[in-house]
Parts: sequence; C-alpha cells; structure tokens
Amino acid sequence: MKSLRVINLDKFFGETHALDHVSFDVAEGEIVAVLGPSGCGKSTLLAVIAGLEIPNAGEVQWDGKSLASVPSYKRGFGLMFQDYVLFPHMDAFDNVAFGLRMAGLAPEVVRQRVRETLALVGLPGFEKRDVNTLSGGEQQRVALARSLAPQPQLLMLDEPLGSLDRTLRERLMFELREILRRLHQTAIYVTHDQEEAFAVADRVVVMDLGRVAQIGTPQAVYSRPASLFVARFLGLDNLLPGKVGKDGDQFTIETPIGRLSTFEQGLGSVTVLIRPDAARLDGQGELQLEGSLVKRSFRGNTCRAVIETNGVRLTFEFLSNAPLPAEGERVRLSFDPAQAIQILR
Ligand code: ADP
Repeated sequence: MKSLRVINLDKFFGETHALDHVSFDVAEGEIVAVLGPSGCGKSTLLAVIAGLEIPNAGEVQWDGKSLASVPSYKRGFGLMFQDYVLFPHMDAFDNVAFGLRMAGLAPEVVRQRVRETLALVGLPGFEKRDVNTLSGGEQQRVALARSLAPQPQLLMLDEPLGSLDRTLRERLMFELREILRRLHQTAIYVTHDQEEAFAVADRVVVMDLGRVAQIGTPQAVYSRPASLFVARFLGLDNLLPGKVGKDGDQFTIETPIGRLSTFEQGLGSVTVLIRPDAARLDGQGELQLEGSLVKRSFRGNTCRAVIETNGVRLTFEFLSNAPLPAEGERVRLSFDPAQAIQILR
C-alpha cells in the first residue's frame, strides 16, 4: 500500500509558525481535504509535501520512506492550482500532453493517454480546441486532465475550483470526486470551503494557525466538532457560555437559556453548542425552549429560523414544510439533549 505520512512538520517564515507539529496520513486511493481559513498554512503544507519548501523539522514519507533527500521532480506527485494557467498558445491536446512529453513517453502513448484523459474529465474530442475559446469550467477540466495524465502517485489540488461561480463549482466538485474515485487516485484537496471539503473528501484535516485542529470523516467532523474553533468555522453558531455544576448526583449546566442537564463530568466554565438541526416542533424532546420567531428565511429544501429567548438569538434549520409560526409569533421548541447539546472546552 503506497501511502503518504506527514510526521510532526514544523515550518517557520521568520516569526510566523506556518506549520506547527502537523501530522496526518493519506491512505492509497484516499481523498483527504485540508480545510481551514486563509493563512492557516494549507499552501505551505502542500509546498512541503511537494518538496518545494524544506521543513524546519519533521518528515514527509511516501511508501514508508523519507522524502527528505528526494527532489521535487522525482517525487512523482502532481499539483493543480487555482491559478492553473493553461498554456494559451497551445491547444487542449498539447496542454494535456505537456507532462507526458516531458517524461519522454512515445508519441503513440502520449496520443492515447491524452485522448483517454480528456474523455475522463468529460471533454472527449476536445483535442484540437484552442484553450482560449473554452469556458471557465472547461478550462478547469483541461487543467485537471493535464495534472492527471502523467498518472501521479499523489495528486495535490490547491483551491482548484476557487475561481468558478457557485453553480459550476457545485457541479464540478461532485464530478471531481467521481473522477478521482474511478482512478483510485490518492489525493490531497486544499480548500477554505467546508462544502467543497465535505463533498469531495473521504476525510478532512481541519487546520487553524498552522496546527491540526481535527481529523475525521466529514460526518464525524460536522457532528462532533472537537473545539470552539472548528464549530465556528463550520458555521455552528449557537454557542452559549455555560457553567457546569452539580445538583445531587446530576451534573447540570447553567446557561443564558436556562439550566440543562448533562453527562459532562468536569466542573467549570464551558461553551455549549446547540446544534441547528436538532430542534423539534412536536414537543416530544426532553428539553423545552420557548421564544419568539424573529426571522425565517427560505433556503429551498430547508428553512432557517432565528429564535430569540431570554435575550439570546439562536438559529435553527427545519424542513421547508415544517409547521413554523409566522415572524414575530411565539414558538415552542423541544430537543433531545444527547443529540442537540454538545459541550466544548
Ligand atoms: P493558506 O494557504 O492556508 O492561506 P499559507 O500556507 O499560504 O496559508 O500561509 C501560512 C502563513 O505563512 C501565513 O501567515 C503566511 O503569511 C505565511 N507565509 C506563507 N508563505 C510565506 C513566505 N514565503 N514568506 C513569509 N511568510 C509566508
């Protein structure tokens, strides 16, 4: 199994600690997204893995061997950037053939590989097209074909869909995942966009200020954010200050919306996350909350409602056909605490 191991990487630029003890693995055929806000170290991480930057400490291993003495061009890794810049004076064929010719492959092999790769990215027969006449999405596919054609052991994509409009981005992220899966391509996908990371990746590495904040499947990261930073970054904004105390044998949390019971054992100050998708309107949950519905916004399948209670505003998501009252009216919500409440320290 040819897998990538990133072990305790440290990288400084002057005073900036761009990578701070970063460790994670990418298994053969796995797509791992590196997700985080601008400046958290994503591009630096790719540059170190690619061999374009030398780390101050730590190691990158491929297939169990250190890459420290392997120069960039001998690593067999492919890169695709947001600013992909196709060669404007070459047609689609020559753009995709570029790396293959550099590798010294025979013309017949090059022709065959370019044809197959263009078909794979959904551009069959585009060989002779002048790349200046292609749409943004088509150019992106040619760029993807160019990085896939040399059959890299590891493909690294840095914000590959960043410059496209929303509709196109959404379509391409699903297609991209399908293409990478079909090839069983080992890949690292860098993005600041959680939707993209969740749609494309098998696992996500969330980064904050050069450090790994959480690693897990998209489902695991979204359902159990490991820290306040991850929760906020994922748009989970129903965060309340809480104080854990004890009431007989039962641990409780005092919050601005009342006293909640908890399984949490440690006493002291915490942050309470109330999941936006866990509110019920059928009154069946153990925990009750009443407030006024400040704002409703229609979002297609779902509807978002802002509810104010005890001076605190919380946002919840419901199915669009849920029987919500009108704006300005009272609403009674209930929750199953085990699903709805999470304690962050
Ligand atoms: P991201 O890709 O997540 O936006 P980067 O890896 O580009 O983050 O940057 C991480 C940090 O390192 C930032 O604070 C950035 O300003 C700094 N940095 C990156 N490259 C350099 C460089 N060549 N010289 C100095 N600082 C750098």
